[in-house]
Amino acid sequence: MKFWRALAAVVVLTMMAGGIAMAQVVLAKDGKSLYRIVVPQKAIPSERYAAEELQRYLERISGAKLPIVTDSEPMGSHEILLGDNAHLRKLGIQFDFAKLGTDGFVLRTFQNHLIIAGGRPRGTLYGVYALLEEKLGVRWFTPEVEFVPKMERVELPVLNETQVPALEYREVFWTEMMRDPDFAARHRLNGHHYRLTEKHGGRAVVFYPFVHSFDLLIPREICEQRPEFWPMIGGKRVSGYVQRCLSNPDLVKLAIERVSQWLKEHPEATIIDISQNDTGNWCQCPQCKALDDAEGSPSASIIKFVNTIAEAIDSHIRYETLAYQYSRKPPKTIRPRPNVIIRLCSIECCFAHPLESCPSEENRRFREDIQAWQLVAPVLYVWDYTTNFAHYLQPFPNFEVLQANVRFFVRHGVKGLFEQGNYSPGGNGEMAPLRAYVLAKLLWNPDTDVQRHINDFLHGYYGRAAGAIRAYMELLHRQVREKGYHAHIFEPPTVPHLNNDEFLDSAERLFDEAERLAESEEIRFRVQVARLPVWYVKLATNRVTGDERADLLRKFLSIARKAGITHIREWQTLDDWAKKMGAE
Ligand SMILES: [Zn+2]
Ligand SMILES: [Zn+2]
Repeated sequence: MKFWRALAAVVVLTMMAGGIAMAQVVLAKDGKSLYRIVVPQKAIPSERYAAEELQRYLERISGAKLPIVTDSEPMGSHEILLGDNAHLRKLGIQFDFAKLGTDGFVLRTFQNHLIIAGGRPRGTLYGVYALLEEKLGVRWFTPEVEFVPKMERVELPVLNETQVPALEYREVFWTEMMRDPDFAARHRLNGHHYRLTEKHGGRAVVFYPFVHSFDLLIPREICEQRPEFWPMIGGKRVSGYVQRCLSNPDLVKLAIERVSQWLKEHPEATIIDISQNDTGNWCQCPQCKALDDAEGSPSASIIKFVNTIAEAIDSHIRYETLAYQYSRKPPKTIRPRPNVIIRLCSIECCFAHPLESCPSEENRRFREDIQAWQLVAPVLYVWDYTTNFAHYLQPFPNFEVLQANVRFFVRHGVKGLFEQGNYSPGGNGEMAPLRAYVLAKLLWNPDTDVQRHINDFLHGYYGRAAGAIRAYMELLHRQVREKGYHAHIFEPPTVPHLNNDEFLDSAERLFDEAERLAESEEIRFRVQVARLPVWYVKLATNRVTGDERADLLRKFLSIARKAGITHIREWQTLDDWAKKMGAE
């Protein structure tokens, strides 16, 4: 046993030495390169863009601008081969592109060549980003802050690896990721809300409509004419922002017509959403109730309704519905048709501790529901929550569960993950740039080294203040980790893990230190933005009074406005909040 272990170590060392000493690929040296970038003659836009991105960044790293040619030219001695390339066949190399799917890729060195070959439409572009990021050390922290290393000698070890993401649909719903589609693509995010175009390989999913669609499907004006379409609650039909009576045959007929119309009007859609409004108020008329009671959940009426529409319309389109709040439990016997996606929502859960292990009743119930859906949903997506929605600027101690939860979802067969955060126009919610960055890394690879990404980001974004910010994060998470407090997404700033002297005083000291350590005004400002949540708790809990309060509020608003923050919570602007707080 020991002998084998020793031998294995020697083999690894020899390979590493070989990789470094005889690096097969020296992409550039002293500002010059022997290489050219070769794209297929029939490259799709994202493969041509992949070549341009590679050219751009390699030039910034090495000073050498590599030419871009097509594979109709004769094979050269030193090539970077992109995509399904004719020169691969000259080298006698074949890849099973189907296995790479739409987003996966191979990175491989072969003789003097480097191969970046991905599935269409996004794989090759993602392969270029993986090379730049994981092999050459480029970092994209925010659309404005990136790190590009400068190297006199750009070399690669022997490479032969394949990456195919576990999640087909990856969406970090934070402003930091949404405001720049180039940036989202660099993080290999492919969701609905990014303005991804052909050059990025487009989006993996295009919804129409985007969730909570009952008002659009059966408009209120129609229900005014046909009151029996409204849900029956407590023995009478109830109007307003409510659900619909899904067992009414005329309503079902109308819904089928409406969805057929949508398909004509929105040829870009790949998924039609038929899902409950963002409220309770579901129908309990005798027909609806009888089915839901027999099936043990109001999801029965919804799944039956969606199935009926999917069955009536002859199309390969996929449908989506929510398993959300009152509909979170699957029905006992009714099964979603094969082209119906279930999007399960974790809104009630504790996010201070992993979904998998938090002993709270809400997390225990969520575990039950996801296990049940995993067995019956043809495709399972999850809508997950990663900030406090009542207070975007309140410290939210969830960094220690992000990886555990993404892994938990993937282990339960989830194929698409939507991570909702502060998506307001101004963004800059609590630790938003860091959280968006870490989530993107996790959605690509749930087993990635999160601590390394956090450290990379803190050093890249906060410079010399990184250590103090890290200490603040540790202080915040210690409040829930050690004292056993749970954390939910609508909690007020008065919760004991935030509204206590030990936390607030220590946090202020760490941010004083961070501001002192910051090496530039630009970095000091980033630290001040990260500090706002501590002041937010002090202001919102009235821990400061009189002139001290007026002063802190003034400082808070001045930094928040300079940072472009527009919203204090999902439905309240910063300006409205400022008025309510008595700002002059
Ligand atoms: Zn009904
Ligand atoms: Zn908990």
